[in-house]
Amino acid sequence: MTVQPIRLFGDPVLRTPAEPVVDFDRELQRLVDDLVETMRGQNGVGLAAPQIGVGLRVFAFDVDDVIGHLVNPVLEFPDEEEQDGPEGCLSIPGVYVDTKRRKNVVAKGFNAYGDPVQIVGAGQMARCAQHETDHLDGVLFLDRLDRGRRKDALRQIRAADWYNPEAPPVIKVSPHVPSPFGM
Ligand SMILES: [Zn+2]
Repeated sequence: MTVQPIRLFGDPVLRTPAEPVVDFDRELQRLVDDLVETMRGQNGVGLAAPQIGVGLRVFAFDVDDVIGHLVNPVLEFPDEEEQDGPEGCLSIPGVYVDTKRRKNVVAKGFNAYGDPVQIVGAGQMARCAQHETDHLDGVLFLDRLDRGRRKDALRQIRAADWYNPEAPPVIKVSPHVPSPFGM
């Protein structure tokens, strides 16, 4: 297992949709190990493969002391309930903004060995599954904010010590809403 450097906001890999996993091989299992190790090293709640520069549909999570991962996730929303609360991203360090998400989610996919997995998540787990699956579509939580909150986020980003004005990041003005997201 290796802790990998985390790609920061402005890196094009974070805006590139990831490819579905086809081979459930040793390489994939190593990727999952790296994701878990890197996430834990940063005390993260979740980490998606593009955040360590790998364009595959895989994410790891560490929510309420449950550590896991999901390959080729597909989200379903069992109801219309929403939640609103602070959200951050390891690729946008130090920036936290209240973000609306669906409250309940059923995340279906596979483990690193190709066995089907289903995660029934509420609250923080649901938020994490939505945030990480967004990463696999090249979507950042900033894209989910309304104008006022996005302005606040961008102000925080410009003030961050890691921000590089020489390579300004891509900011999507209208949110990209991938199916089956109803938001
Ligand atoms: Zn993130």
